[in-house]
Amino acid sequence: ALTMEGVHHTFGNLAVVRGVDLDVAPGEVVCLLGPSGCGKTTLLRIAAGLETLQRGRVSLNGGEIAVPKGRHVPPEKRNVGLAFQDSALFPHLTVLENVTFGLRGEPTRQRRERALTLLDQLGMSDYADTYPHMLSGGQQQRVALARALAPSPQLMLLDEPFSSLDARLRDRIRDDTLHVLKKVGAATLLVTHDPEEAMFMADRIALMRDGCIVQVGTPRELYCAPCDPFVVAFFGEVN
Ligand code: ATP
Repeated sequence: ALTMEGVHHTFGNLAVVRGVDLDVAPGEVVCLLGPSGCGKTTLLRIAAGLETLQRGRVSLNGGEIAVPKGRHVPPEKRNVGLAFQDSALFPHLTVLENVTFGLRGEPTRQRRERALTLLDQLGMSDYADTYPHMLSGGQQQRVALARALAPSPQLMLLDEPFSSLDARLRDRIRDDTLHVLKKVGAATLLVTHDPEEAMFMADRIALMRDGCIVQVGTPRELYCAPCDPFVVAFFGEVN
């Protein structure tokens, strides 16, 4: 489980995250939802260890992974799968090699099989021997997802993972991704600005505004029992 307590973050004079408490249980998908600039990506980067913690506490499965001016477990030691908007694939490796890259210490055949299963689940097994530059943006995004999921991380951090997919494909890949996430049992934090996506993907939604979480709850709770007019307005567009 991921636990964030009293997290604050500033860039210069700009307070971007202002006192966030959030926990994500194993196997749970929590969507960080909110308008552009509210601090979602920054919070995700703090969970990943890509930003050093300025104030608060971050733990993973009960063990502290970051405290200000103290412990800072670097991203590669956090057992996290990352798929960010700009997470580039290795251009000189094939799709399959990109996905097996993080699977050190396992026999080659096992790595290959696991990677191919994931690629198949995300509709990309036909492209196993293809190089990234020959893929569309949406296809690259699916490979990046497979690569993040391959080591069965305890924590998955996804930033707008479906943004380059066309609407028709998006529904299927969301569905497939959810299936894989549940199977892996990772605690997942997924950033999106799209309420519809959050409704579909989330066990719980954390709605953010101006660096604070306005409400956390199941999609149904936020939709049916909003705690603030901002929540109503944000979900106003979803039917
Ligand atoms: P979006 O949905 O547009 O990606 P977001 O909710 O993810 O937005 P963040 O990317 O966390 O928001 O950014 C929050 C604020 O912090 C923005 O005003 C942004 O300009 C600022 N910011 C983010 N990263 C930095 C940085 N490295 N240096 C300075 N300011 C930053």
